[in-house]
Amino acid sequence: VQAVFRSNLSHLLDLMGSGKESLIFMKKRTKRLTAQWALAAQRLAQKLGATRRDQKQILVHIGFLTEESGDVFSPRVLKGGPLGEMVQWADILAALYVLGHGLRVTVSLKELQSNLGVPPGRGSCPLTMPLPFDLIYTDYHGLQQMKQHMGLSFKKYRCRIRVIDTFGTEPAYNHEEYATLHGYRTNWGYWNLNPKQFMTMFPHTPDNSFMGFVSEELNETEKQLIKGGKASNMAVVYGKEASIWKGKEKFLGILNKYMEIHGTVYYESQRPPEVPAFVKNHGLLPQPEFQQLLRKAKLFIGFGFPYEGPAPLEAIANGCIFLQSRFSPPHSSLNHEFFRGKPTSREVFSQHPYAENFIGKPHVWTVDYNNSEEFEAAIKAIMRTQVDPYLPYEYTCEGMLERIHAYIQHQDFCIAPGPVLPGAHTPQSPFVLAPNATHLEWARNASLAPAAWPPAHSLRAWLAAPGRACTDTCLDHGLICEPSFFPFLNSQDAFLKLQVPCDSTESEMNHLYPAFAQPGQECYLQKEPLLFSCAGSNSKYRRLCPCRDFRKGQVALCQGCL
Ligand code: UDP
Repeated sequence: VQAVFRSNLSHLLDLMGSGKESLIFMKKRTKRLTAQWALAAQRLAQKLGATRRDQKQILVHIGFLTEESGDVFSPRVLKGGPLGEMVQWADILAALYVLGHGLRVTVSLKELQSNLGVPPGRGSCPLTMPLPFDLIYTDYHGLQQMKQHMGLSFKKYRCRIRVIDTFGTEPAYNHEEYATLHGYRTNWGYWNLNPKQFMTMFPHTPDNSFMGFVSEELNETEKQLIKGGKASNMAVVYGKEASIWKGKEKFLGILNKYMEIHGTVYYESQRPPEVPAFVKNHGLLPQPEFQQLLRKAKLFIGFGFPYEGPAPLEAIANGCIFLQSRFSPPHSSLNHEFFRGKPTSREVFSQHPYAENFIGKPHVWTVDYNNSEEFEAAIKAIMRTQVDPYLPYEYTCEGMLERIHAYIQHQDFCIAPGPVLPGAHTPQSPFVLAPNATHLEWARNASLAPAAWPPAHSLRAWLAAPGRACTDTCLDHGLICEPSFFPFLNSQDAFLKLQVPCDSTESEMNHLYPAFAQPGQECYLQKEPLLFSCAGSNSKYRRLCPCRDFRKGQVALCQGCL
């Protein structure tokens, strides 16, 4: 059956159920964004033309909202608790629905069981039963619940699962045996999924799929109106919880010399003691009123927490400049409580790395807050800087629909891994050394480019400098690391073509392989396909890195990927 775009979301609102504060927040958002989704669907339909889109049956099980997982978020929706996850789930539901797929939504274990066909009263079904869904979107909590209640069919059908995972899960932490042996075990477990089954909120590492969310988009008239109506001396502080203001008196004092400071900090009866009297605190605002505040403000300022939420994108989309602190040394699971035990080795160099790296100046200023002069100079410069509202394409409704469409039509983790087996020596390798001898590319005349996605001809392979990760190496060349290309490179032939002087070649389990170790001139191939990883580095190795191009404003998709 072909999927047909939908523009009326009222049935989706029914599917989302009711009662919980979190669901009310999500439904309000979906309702408010209906017109934007409809317009985006129209545009994407035009862009895709006659492209075939299969309709899938999809279950969305939002584990963190179930009572069985403790549902700690719902009671905090109106009290300044995190809303980013709810923003994202609301947008995922909307996107799947607008794309025209068959949708079920569950937010309790009971509903999950009944949708999976687990007989009532039974903890789990020991026999494999047919699964009525092509795809299941869930989170780590939901994954655990499915494992407990699906019996043997969990193993059989886990390739259909997609895990919404805000901060990402790197391959080294995902592989059970490897994580256990090498100190990558975390509380989140090791699920031996294809790392691309984990879907993140921002494009952290290309080892995972970038899911994202949307921010409201302005039309030209609104943009002009907003630009004209800005108060050049108005600042809004990022953060709904009073705790983030603690110890920030010095910065607030400096900022207060130049600007009128507004906050949206939750409070019960009186002003939270952390928020100084000169700050105009609005309390936690409903989302549309928060947007209105951003439309008037010149500056949106972060004090280091929360990390990587939606609000800075909304601020920039509403014409604010986002000022944030640089983290030096970077925050990571090694030195910061928040990241401790998270299944990623990522180093976070500022409060919002996406804003810093993908947007940057003039919209985003990342400065060292320990240096008061630098901080003060930035504020003065920002007050003189004119910016237009800006929203990266990948965070528009159309961009999100395009990306999810591509994933649904092309990502299939139920088929055996890549056409070139790891370690295999392909007699007629499809690669050639590029004319300038810096990297490998797909030979123009290679007869059989395997039917991979992304298409294999977009591959460019580089040998990284010692100690460099593939994520960074590809970015250095204006490209993005593409882990699904690793199998093509995992051969002696690739080293040979790159003229790497291997004294010997061995095949082992290591998330940094394929790589060349300089002392000893040894080449290493990857033995375990699940461990292919863009992330990770060690000064001992020069990694062999598969890169590809990407669409401007849509880093998840290569030029020929739609
Ligand atoms: N938000 C809101 N009212 C406010 C402040 C923020 O509704 O007073 C919304 C905002 O529009 C954003 C969401 O809260 O979409 C999440 O924002 P944040 O970046 O703070 O991420 P979180 O830490 O909540 O996940």
